[in-house]
Amino acid sequence: MELTIKNLSKTYPNGVKALDNVSLTIPQGMFGLLGPNGAGKSSLMRTIAMLQAPDSGSIHLDAIDALEDKMALRRVLGYLPQEFGVYPRVSAEDLLDHMAVVKGIVNRGERRETVKALLEQTNLYDVRKRSISTFSGGMKQRFGIAQALIGNPLLIIVDEPTAGLDPGERNRFYNLLSEIGENIIVILSTHIVDDVRELCRNMAIINEGRVLFAGQPQAAMHELKGRVWERTIEKAELAEYQQEYAVISTKLLAGQPLLHVVGDDLGTAGFQAVEPSLEDVFFSTIQGKAAQSVLVHA
Ligand code: ADP
Repeated sequence: MELTIKNLSKTYPNGVKALDNVSLTIPQGMFGLLGPNGAGKSSLMRTIAMLQAPDSGSIHLDAIDALEDKMALRRVLGYLPQEFGVYPRVSAEDLLDHMAVVKGIVNRGERRETVKALLEQTNLYDVRKRSISTFSGGMKQRFGIAQALIGNPLLIIVDEPTAGLDPGERNRFYNLLSEIGENIIVILSTHIVDDVRELCRNMAIINEGRVLFAGQPQAAMHELKGRVWERTIEKAELAEYQQEYAVISTKLLAGQPLLHVVGDDLGTAGFQAVEPSLEDVFFSTIQGKAAQSVLVHA
């Protein structure tokens, strides 16, 4: 199974070009769509979820031409939006049951089985009688996955699902997603590099509506091998270093700036070579400072 996106573009009425000729091939498993805020991730997710039309381009899930036959795609799609809107004061069990009716599971017995299985899978069975409005962020996200799984979708889209979760909730959510991702296509859109590093075998980095990298996280890190350096400096030196070197990130380490830069043979300049991390890949790619071979040439 494969989702094939070709030459997708979208300009909003206000003139913002949110998608600029996006092409991606997304295989079975977890796929990470990584980009900073405003990169175009939600626009792409909503387009794949058939919630908004692109200006041009095509989307195929195997033989399904999604833009020609939206219903066919919707039948095999599960979507966890970034904003779920208002959580109603109904129990998790009742809302899931209602959503199963909407998805076409009209047989009561079958529906009861489905709802029970989903509540168990997302670890919400014990709290099924509670109103969703009382759920924690992590529980709401797991409920979001439960509703996305109704009807055994082949493709699931989760938009920024871990923002706002505490570390324990995030871990539970990761485990749930990685179980689901074994048999179907799961597209995870996120600005959090850890989400992709922990979960995704394949990924793309997008910024300003364009795909800057597509491939395996390991391959991207490998491309940068030997070219990432770090060094702690004084705060007052920051501007000077930023001018002189291809600085890709600046963090504070015990109050002092720790720089990561891309370059060759910087050992003599007081830098230490480091193993490239996915964060290095991300920052260098979105700033256009990655090794040329990491960048996708359109
Ligand atoms: P991301 O999900 O990566 O944060 P979005 O797809 O939400 O990015 O947004 C991409 C760009 O399109 C941003 O500049 C955003 O302000 C703009 N945008 C998103 N939705 C709309 C809309 N409905 N109308 C106009 N501009 C929009």
